[in-house]
Amino acid sequence: MENLKKIINGKEYSKKFLKQVYPLSTNFLKKFKRKPCLAVILVGDNTASRIYVNNKVRTAEKNGIQSKEVILSSKVSEVNLLNEILKLNVDENVDGILVQLPLPAHISEKKIIHSINPKKDVDGFHPINFGKLFMGNPNFIPCTPLGCFYMLKNEFKDLSGKNAVIIGRSNIVGKPMASLLLASNCSVTITHSKTKNLQEHCKKADILVSAVGIPEMVDETYIKQGAIIIDVGINRLQFVNPETNVNETKLVGDVNFRKVVNIAKKITPVPGGVGPMTIACLMHNTVKAAYKNKKQNFKNILGDYF
Ligand code: NAP
Repeated sequence: MENLKKIINGKEYSKKFLKQVYPLSTNFLKKFKRKPCLAVILVGDNTASRIYVNNKVRTAEKNGIQSKEVILSSKVSEVNLLNEILKLNVDENVDGILVQLPLPAHISEKKIIHSINPKKDVDGFHPINFGKLFMGNPNFIPCTPLGCFYMLKNEFKDLSGKNAVIIGRSNIVGKPMASLLLASNCSVTITHSKTKNLQEHCKKADILVSAVGIPEMVDETYIKQGAIIIDVGINRLQFVNPETNVNETKLVGDVNFRKVVNIAKKITPVPGGVGPMTIACLMHNTVKAAYKNKKQNFKNILGDYF
């Protein structure tokens, strides 16, 4: 029971957040006689990517956002994919463009991300948006770190002076997360696979964000008493069900929840933590893009900095 109070409930946060997004999309519809529109490009038949895209499309529909799916074969050439993006870039009825990653090996993710119109880059991966975030003048912020940050700000109004440690330095999670925490006056350490004495760094964290992709790597030896833990990892773990003796899979995070929950002050679970907020932030970014593309003021749900 005590431990339940420690959970940062991403599902509840996302519901609360989307309740604020919905009126913005309905107002947009009233004003412009169309819904904000998100184009999602899926290349190939990766099962996990298909599930992510389905979730995004379903959430968009529930929140007054039109989605336009562009499904391409895994054999599509880079040039043809670029052409699809160029069409969406100039389509006035498309506000946001998302290319589901990863892409097949013969396509350069970098080239694809760079080709998206920065004004429609709702994932926030384009160098212009990435640079703006790091210069303290963000436009579109990558959805996963944005969702993590939203929950942290709601749980703890003032993050100033806290020691934040991030495990993972990807452009999608680790680096933008660091920028957001830095902008909130945290002292930030980014760690990675070459970091020496990882546990020692993590033990100093008031806030620990893990984005590694190694199932349950972070245990009690990484955690300071009273730390706040944000577990970004989504890892599918295979196990044999002892009752049925059948092979099953389950989702786990980077953090061994059971081993750290007694030490932590607050912690996001997997599933039901960061994942739902990531999709909610994608909806937010799409509606924001729609207003901005129509040269309208957008009163940001997340506060003035964003
Ligand atoms: P990524 O690009 O593979 O980056 C992983 C990072 O972890 C890299 O910086 C890597 O270091 C570091 N790392 C690997 N092994 C390590 C170790 N033993 N010790 C310390 N650092 C280590 O992954 P990502 O895209 O950031 O995603 C990370 C995890 O978050 C994955 O499980 C992914 O599925 C999940 N994710 C979840 C959401 C969500 O919505 N919840 C969204 C995005 C990602 P190097 O740079 O040195 O290689």
